[in-house]
Amino acid sequence: MVDNPGESSSLDSVNTASSPSDLRITDMRIAAVGQGNWRWPIIKLYTNQGLVGLGEVRDGASARYALMLKSRLLGENPCDIDRLFRKIKQFGGHGRLGGGVCGVEMALCDLAGKAYGVPAYMLAGGKYRDKIKVYADTPSLKDPEEMGKALKGRMDRGFEFLKMDIGAWIAEPHEGGVVNKAVMAESASVMHPFTGIQVSDYGISKMQEYVEVVRNIIGYEVPLASDHFGHMGVENCIRIGKALDQFTLAWYEDMIPWQFVDQWKRLKDAVETPVATGEDIYLKEGFEPLVDARAISVAHPDLATSGGILETKRIADYCYEAGISVALHQAGSPVVAMANVHCAAAIDNFVALEMHSVDNPWWDDLVDVVGQDGPMIQDGYIKLPEAPGLGIELNEEAIEAHLNEEPTNFSVYPGGLFKPTDEWDSLDAHDRAWS
Ligand SMILES: [Mg+2]
Repeated sequence: MVDNPGESSSLDSVNTASSPSDLRITDMRIAAVGQGNWRWPIIKLYTNQGLVGLGEVRDGASARYALMLKSRLLGENPCDIDRLFRKIKQFGGHGRLGGGVCGVEMALCDLAGKAYGVPAYMLAGGKYRDKIKVYADTPSLKDPEEMGKALKGRMDRGFEFLKMDIGAWIAEPHEGGVVNKAVMAESASVMHPFTGIQVSDYGISKMQEYVEVVRNIIGYEVPLASDHFGHMGVENCIRIGKALDQFTLAWYEDMIPWQFVDQWKRLKDAVETPVATGEDIYLKEGFEPLVDARAISVAHPDLATSGGILETKRIADYCYEAGISVALHQAGSPVVAMANVHCAAAIDNFVALEMHSVDNPWWDDLVDVVGQDGPMIQDGYIKLPEAPGLGIELNEEAIEAHLNEEPTNFSVYPGGLFKPTDEWDSLDAHDRAWS
């Protein structure tokens, strides 16, 4: 940098370490970390200038969703984020199917930031905050006293925003608590309106008792969101919601599937607690019906499904105009967590970012944050990095120590640490989505 730009040649004031206009993608490789649904395929996009971009396929999704995009990205300039996103977005979808497109988008933002010498949040329009509030999901415990203590433990670690599950499982052990109880186990994959499950008034009173015990332990000054109510129709959700309104919860999450906009509107209008959904919705156009109908209070996109950093910023802006706040769902490795941090920094109407791994002892080992010491999450916040791109470097020893070991995955991509993926180099499809 120069002291007085007016007296200097322009070359002194620009970063000449990279040549963004000539940057090209040369390779994509994967290292999948973790097991089962807690499997995080980490993406590396390589370039002709030595810059490497990091991204991540959504938790529990197949790495092939990203690898099938490789042939569409080779030779492209990663700084053309918007054009490349439009090129590949037809190969994403709701839920885990969005994982490949979004993982690539993060890596493009990492590369463009590195090429320009700016942190990724600047690509999304700059920041509204320097540290990002994290909310800790906490696994369910049957005993409400134990649950309250577990949440209190989160508060003692500095978390200022909490979430717990309040499900029909609380009513289920009590005789007469749940109607059509016999199908509860088998209805896990049946959409809510179609199970015939209801919670009786008695069962709802048990749910009230549970939340009351928890609230008495943690108090009312910390926001407490709620999730995983069980698969029941909207009428039952309204009865439960009204009964729990007295506990001033931060939101009722995914009480019914996001697809049923009319039912969301009905729920939102009937209860006096904010209602939230969105972790499985792909792209802004997926959120528009819920926002247009003013059917939610809080949008809850997962950046690894919703379209990556820039599309999620667009979703948040759309919500802002409707007076809807945004909390970010997140259940991945520190790579996707940091992509969320940059996006959250750029969102005016942001509330909090979810963390599912605060009890995982090796989660923090997977990356180093450039220019920062200590754990990524400190006192319930993540400090926004100012280094170029996502501002993280992989700790490859830790990645290698926790590589995915499920052999079924290796038939579609090589296991191990960022091994060659040449079999995905050739394009064998005509991609045009219109005629
Ligand atoms: Mg959820």
